[in-house]
Amino acid sequence: GKIEGGSRYTFYSPEMNTWSRDRLDMETALHHGLANQEFELFYQPQIEIASGRLAGLESLIRWQRPGKGRVMPDEFITAAEESGIIRGIGEWAIHAAMRQTAHWNREGLLTVPLAVNVSARQFSDMAIVDTIREGLADSGLAPSMLKVELTESTAMRNPGYAAELLHSIHNLGVSIAVDDFGTGYSSLSLLKRFPVSELKIDRSFVGDVSDHDAAAIVRGTIALAHGLGMTVVAEGVETQAQLRFLADHGCDVVQGYLFAQPLPPDEIRNWLSGPPP
Ligand code: C2E
Ligand code: CA
Ligand code: CA
Ligand code: CA
Repeated sequence: GKIEGGSRYTFYSPEMNTWSRDRLDMETALHHGLANQEFELFYQPQIEIASGRLAGLESLIRWQRPGKGRVMPDEFITAAEESGIIRGIGEWAIHAAMRQTAHWNREGLLTVPLAVNVSARQFSDMAIVDTIREGLADSGLAPSMLKVELTESTAMRNPGYAAELLHSIHNLGVSIAVDDFGTGYSSLSLLKRFPVSELKIDRSFVGDVSDHDAAAIVRGTIALAHGLGMTVVAEGVETQAQLRFLADHGCDVVQGYLFAQPLPPDEIRNWLSGPPP
């Protein structure tokens, strides 16, 4: 089962270009990677500005590809999406994140939600609802401890369908965040129909708040989110100046290298059990 034009891949020919050979190698390696447990999750803290306290964690996948070291998601998620193997990888990631979070909950180390990323292909059928329901049952994680992040463009691709799917997830007791907000041309009236509790401002705007237009988008997003009763998270916060701008304009939660990079479980463990900053 390849992407359209998959017959291209049924034989090697001199015409086969480097791109398609690389892609085929990548798909094979992704299948092996999933079977051989080469994927791992890092976790990045989210901080509530008003209190300075931890507000949540976001899980971010990494791939320890043999002979290639640590591969970042931007290098493989697109290929995983196009080949469909994102379903398997995504299911693994959701289950692993829930197990880890349930464990930290039981240890008393973590009392705030974990956010997991769900990509467009994972969102393209209702199976994601079963994956989440089963993950909750298997891990024993309280639904209120889970948040699903989907991008604005995924949500807006087919808004009627998205509304139905998001309500099914919401009905499990799981909360929903719209990721990369500001990049996908949301309509206000559509956004209101989604059971979304959080907007995440894309880091391209956060990184550029000295720019007049980016600053206007950040301010507008915060006003919009608060008008709809939603929390605002700014991602990619790297400087004190960005933090100050966000705080001055009423942003609720920040996430970025200024506070912590995404960290492997043992380092997050230390981070969680260490003294408050
Ligand atoms: P995203 O969900 O928008 O995640 C935010 C990205 O910004 C992450 O990149 C994170 O490491 C990075 N980041 C965090 N703070 C800063 C900062 O202060 N400065 C800069 N420059 N970057 C920062 P990462 O981990 O490489 O992930 C990239 C994308 O891959 C994610 O974007 C998400 O769309 C996707 N992804 C990650 N994990 C998963 C997963 O488990 N499943 C799915 N379906 N997609 C995932
Ligand atoms: Ca995200
Ligand atoms: Ca994002
Ligand atoms: Ca992104």
